[in-house]
Amino acid sequence: MAMKETNSWGRIDTRAREIIAFDASVQRDGLLSQSQSYLPYGNGRSYGDSCLNDVGTLLDGRHHNRVLSLDLNAGILRAESGILLIELLDALKDSGWFIPVVPGTKFVTLGGMVANDIHGKNHGHRGTIGCHVRQFSLLRSDRERLVCAADQNSDLYAATIGGMGLTGFIEWIELSLIPVASHKVLETKLPFDSLEEGLDLLAQEDPEHEYSVAWIDSLATGDRLGRGILMLGDHIESPTPPKYGKPLLSVPFTPPIPLVAGPALSAFNKLYYWRNASQQAPHVARPDSFFFPLDAVGGWNRLYGPGGLHQHQCSLPLEGGEAALRRMLEASHDANHGSFLTVLKRFGSVRSPGLLSFPMEGFTLTLDFPNREPATHALLDRLDRITLEVGGRVNPYKDSRMQPETFRSGFSQWRALERLRDPAMMSDFWRRVSHQTEEFRSEIKAEKAS
Ligand SMILES: Cc1cc2nc3c(=O)[nH]c(=O)nc-3n(C[C@H](O)[C@H](O)[C@H](O)COP(=O)(O)OP(=O)(O)OC[C@H]3O[C@@H](n4cnc5c(N)ncnc54)[C@H](O)[C@@H]3O)c2cc1C
Repeated sequence: MAMKETNSWGRIDTRAREIIAFDASVQRDGLLSQSQSYLPYGNGRSYGDSCLNDVGTLLDGRHHNRVLSLDLNAGILRAESGILLIELLDALKDSGWFIPVVPGTKFVTLGGMVANDIHGKNHGHRGTIGCHVRQFSLLRSDRERLVCAADQNSDLYAATIGGMGLTGFIEWIELSLIPVASHKVLETKLPFDSLEEGLDLLAQEDPEHEYSVAWIDSLATGDRLGRGILMLGDHIESPTPPKYGKPLLSVPFTPPIPLVAGPALSAFNKLYYWRNASQQAPHVARPDSFFFPLDAVGGWNRLYGPGGLHQHQCSLPLEGGEAALRRMLEASHDANHGSFLTVLKRFGSVRSPGLLSFPMEGFTLTLDFPNREPATHALLDRLDRITLEVGGRVNPYKDSRMQPETFRSGFSQWRALERLRDPAMMSDFWRRVSHQTEEFRSEIKAEKAS
């Protein structure tokens, strides 16, 4: 077994961790012993501790990265779980098909996307990635290999989609694709002057376009609070297939202080707003620049300095959502924490089959902060409270510090996932929000006694 510096994207805790390459022989040879704990590891693009297991072994599936079958008539793809999104998109680039839901980075594995039930800029039309999973194969420490689908081992199908790796190791996944004119996108950018105006624009435009996402200038205050740019996109015909590229440049080392705060943040926000506000004419965008702009700079998370970064993402219901968004932006100002990348999206009503899926119909706001403990933790706690007060939930795969109660009040199905958990799988996140709590221990005691 190798000890390797293995991180999540927030880089809050960058110690070396035990990691082994996972293959079928690991299971066949009985290496997955139920007396030890493990966790599947994709490409570490979760922000917090849900992809880490500090007292166990991470199972690295990256070398399981083959496309197993591709039916171009029906638009059905089967691939091994360790394949990266960039590799999948490259395989599909001139096929007329696209991955139905993509996150803001192409450096994620298919297994990680499904285990987190990721959402994209088209939730209103397509829901989460889980809505497009036809079936998958699951390896567990306590059972034979299982194929799971909506009508086969359906409890494990639902628990694994969004189950954060806790139900076992996904070997391969079969997805339905969406037909597209090409991978390129006709993009329109619309500036708005306030949160209210932005939400009106989003409500009006989101149903009309495949993709919508708003960037918010987190430093704007007063009448301009919540001003930003709405970006809309639809696939468009193009004679040339796109190129999916590696980062154009990389951050080679971690600077001693965050470079995404203070005057740099202020200058970035002003420049970003005015540059995009002046580009309103629709234009054809490369998929890399429309879907994955951050991937242009490799290791950009290092810019947050040695303390790492926290990302707070909430899912808010329509009712009360707007007031909560306003309070969150104000809370960040009050705490003197500018968020470098602030993103607002609408979540639609398409329901995921996943038991612990994050999106609920309404809004989602994402805020990125350099970690300046304890002030950052106090702010994040306040953002959690605002979220819960309107019946929202905080994203578990972006988190490394929320209180167990915060998680449980957002995800009432957590016990059902615990019942279906592979006894050999555990994460730092799950230990923190369930196993290490008094409530959980007394429940187990009561179960044993009965
Ligand atoms: C720049 C950036 C933008 C992002 N944008 C979005 C976005 O728009 N929407 C969104 O939803 N998320 C977004 N994310 C988060 C990211 O998409 C998800 O966390 C993604 O699931 C991470 O995939 P990964 O391969 O890195 O998996 P990891 O982070 O390594 O693991 C994720 C989870 O999957 C489990 N897992 C991994 N492989 C397997 C397997 N083979 N079998 C079973 N379980 C497995 C792990 O145990 C873990 O719990 C973004 C992240 C970044 C850095």
